[in-house]
Amino acid sequence: MIQKPKGTYDLLPEDTNKWQAMEKTIRNVSKIYNYKEIRTPIFEKTELFHRGVGESTDIVSKETYDFIDRGNRSNTLRPEGTAPVVRSYIENKIYADKFPVTKLYYMGSMFRYERPQKGRYRQFAQFGAEAFGSTSPLLDAEIISYAVSVLKALKIKDVKVHLNSIGDAESKEAYKLALVDYLKDDLDSLCHDCNTRFKTNPMRILDCKIDSKSDFLQNAPKPLEYLNEASKNHFADVIKFLDAMDIAYVIDESLVRGLDYYTHTVFEVKANLETLGAQNTICGGGRYNTLVSSLGGPDIPGVGFAFGLERLMFALDSINFKGDPSYLHLYLMVLGEKQKEDGIAILNRCRLGGLFSDIDYMDKNMKGQFKLAGNFNARFVAIYGEAEKADGTINIKDQDNGTEVTISKEQLYNHIVQELMKPSHSCEGCSEDSCDTCDEEEEN
Ligand code: ATP
Ligand code: MG
Repeated sequence: MIQKPKGTYDLLPEDTNKWQAMEKTIRNVSKIYNYKEIRTPIFEKTELFHRGVGESTDIVSKETYDFIDRGNRSNTLRPEGTAPVVRSYIENKIYADKFPVTKLYYMGSMFRYERPQKGRYRQFAQFGAEAFGSTSPLLDAEIISYAVSVLKALKIKDVKVHLNSIGDAESKEAYKLALVDYLKDDLDSLCHDCNTRFKTNPMRILDCKIDSKSDFLQNAPKPLEYLNEASKNHFADVIKFLDAMDIAYVIDESLVRGLDYYTHTVFEVKANLETLGAQNTICGGGRYNTLVSSLGGPDIPGVGFAFGLERLMFALDSINFKGDPSYLHLYLMVLGEKQKEDGIAILNRCRLGGLFSDIDYMDKNMKGQFKLAGNFNARFVAIYGEAEKADGTINIKDQDNGTEVTISKEQLYNHIVQELMKPSHSCEGCSEDSCDTCDEEEEN
């Protein structure tokens, strides 16, 4: 038997049901913030990630899935979404369209050759957003607010926004010098990878999974201490706007992000949930003012974030998120070979009218079919047998309240629609959170 590749997983219908509900909420929040969806290819030219994400990052140096195609081109399965979105933004000249700020979001699979563990896969899904065109700290604050709103809409409470600024290019350079000066004294205490990072991209050392908790690194200089005036002001404004929106955050002075392209604001959302284990960062993001130009586009700033959707789902599991319930409006029980032709016609009419409906294909007896209807969670079971065919009727059972009626078979669709529109409970002393009927009564 062939098994799935290491680090991948299948989503079975019970799971996809929850994923769809999660995705629906994400799309709704995206509409609220006026972000539009973009879909880019699942693979890009290898070069894009080398230039966009950075040679010295773990993603590019160790984790990409690269392949040479039959035309001898080097391609890479996308390990992240920002570089492809920026590529598309430049290639399609989206910056020249009628909106000065472009607000985009994406959802889809990413691929990284990592050591699989809970919350870490080789194919995983991200939801991310990118806003291009403005250096305003309003946009940094909006991006953070957008991420927080997604969590709120999903009712995930136990989360913390970690916030930091690494400043503009000048501040980053000043910080880098100070950091190198500090680190050079005790390189032996750092892991092998960090010794490589020391030469290629010292800031990444603060993000090391092995060393970052050591006293030596904890006491290292912090980016905030090296911000120039402009960077300080930018960060102060981001904080001011977050405060104005009552968005809670903690300043995390050691936070730097794994990718090369960040400038100014960086943030992560961490969940405090047992279900997540060590992989508790569900969202990471920040500002990248030089990425568009470094990929050959105009000098246009950007800011964005990316959620890991598996980790978000773990957070949802911990609050017992179930997704939308699975049900049918109609289970049509056709009894007898001669009734099948009428049966499929009746079923088809109901389906054309939009009723979720199904039928038996296995010539099961009544008992077996009632069981099936129950497993489908069907609201109505309609029985069409020899007797019904003879007098043009159909028998309907409402599984909610046990009532049963026999009507003309032409009336089946209308009958069900009418019944479905009735409120599901008597509204006197109604305790439902949101009941359209009660709300209307109050308004009148
Ligand atoms: P980590 O430090 O956990 O490796 P990262 O810095 O590599 O994360 P990003 O590149 O910022 O992660 O990606 C954004 C989000 O995508 C992460 O916060 C995480 O939720 C999720 N993510 C990253 N890598 C994986 C993976 N291999 N499997 C599942 N989710 C992932
Ligand atoms: Mg990683």
